Amino acid sequence: QNTANQIAAGEVVEKPASVVKELVENSLDAGADNIEVTIFGGGTEYIRVVDNGSGMSEENAKLAVLRHATSKIRVAEDLLHLNTLGFRGEALPSIASVSNFQLLTRPVTEEFATSIKIEGGDQAECIATGGHTGTTIIVENLFFNVPARRKFLRTVQTESRYISELITKLALSRPDVRFKLVSNDKEVLSTPGNGDLVDTVKALYGKNVSEELLTVDFADSEVKVRGFIGKPTLLKGTRQWQTLLVNGRIITNRMIAKAIDHAYQSQIPKSGFPFAVLNITVDTESIDVNVHPQKSEIKFSDDSTVYKAMYKALTDALTRPMS
Ligand code: ADP
Ligand code: MG
Repeated sequence: QNTANQIAAGEVVEKPASVVKELVENSLDAGADNIEVTIFGGGTEYIRVVDNGSGMSEENAKLAVLRHATSKIRVAEDLLHLNTLGFRGEALPSIASVSNFQLLTRPVTEEFATSIKIEGGDQAECIATGGHTGTTIIVENLFFNVPARRKFLRTVQTESRYISELITKLALSRPDVRFKLVSNDKEVLSTPGNGDLVDTVKALYGKNVSEELLTVDFADSEVKVRGFIGKPTLLKGTRQWQTLLVNGRIITNRMIAKAIDHAYQSQIPKSGFPFAVLNITVDTESIDVNVHPQKSEIKFSDDSTVYKAMYKALTDALTRPMS
């Protein structure tokens, strides 16, 4: 069992940022609207995620750390119509098999919280205790028992950056949720969680970005594109400024990246990558479900429809007279 968990961990948990991703997605799935992430040493030493979501009963907490104990999927065809981020029930046991792991959780209906400690996959403790409603998960000494993995960790700075880039994108995907990231006792970012995407952009990137945005609001019969792009004066050397969501999930996709490039190039002969936060909505049927659930690269069954819609959505925004 523990070996299976460690093997699964090899897929699910590549680096500290992957742990943060799994934990924060669980918090979002649990309906949290306030999520605080604290890390030390780029997440390798310490990761703590505190949420105000539904919490778990003692029974569900015990189940949650077992393999394939997801509460989110019942039949295979649910996979096509997922509205939760997780569904495989592998994350918690995988993470717990390669770290010192602690779960503290309490649903609002219960008087006591449940605390479960797991050390490198071996359950060390399960007790009733006091605790806030919602869930706190602490992951310490990641990969302490997997030297081969530890070797591939990058510098503290780089691992920290992966985590802040991830939280930035998650925060942009959910402006209705308050996010806070603290690294080595310093606040790295925090968002208001007031549902306003421009306020969220301002909190994350500052006024010089949030005051230079163009509205994208496009819909045809197959594709909807909503969000904001930066004015053409606001270009960067990398795509790091681009957050793309398809049906609410953070994705990467070459065709969409190209559509953005081409739309800007059609308007200004400058090279560089614009700022963009775009929500793309398509029928679930037009997304290839054969993509690896852990990967953010997405495939569409019909690339050209999505390309045309993206190109049109952006050129409309770029050429619309300023009000
Ligand atoms: P999955 O997300 O694929 O279901 P996980 O291993 O990530 O699998 O989580 C297992 C289960 O634990 C989830 O299905 C959910 O019921 C529960 N769970 C995990 N994290 C939280 C959380 N922060 N709040 C409430 N429930 C949680
Ligand atoms: Mg999950």
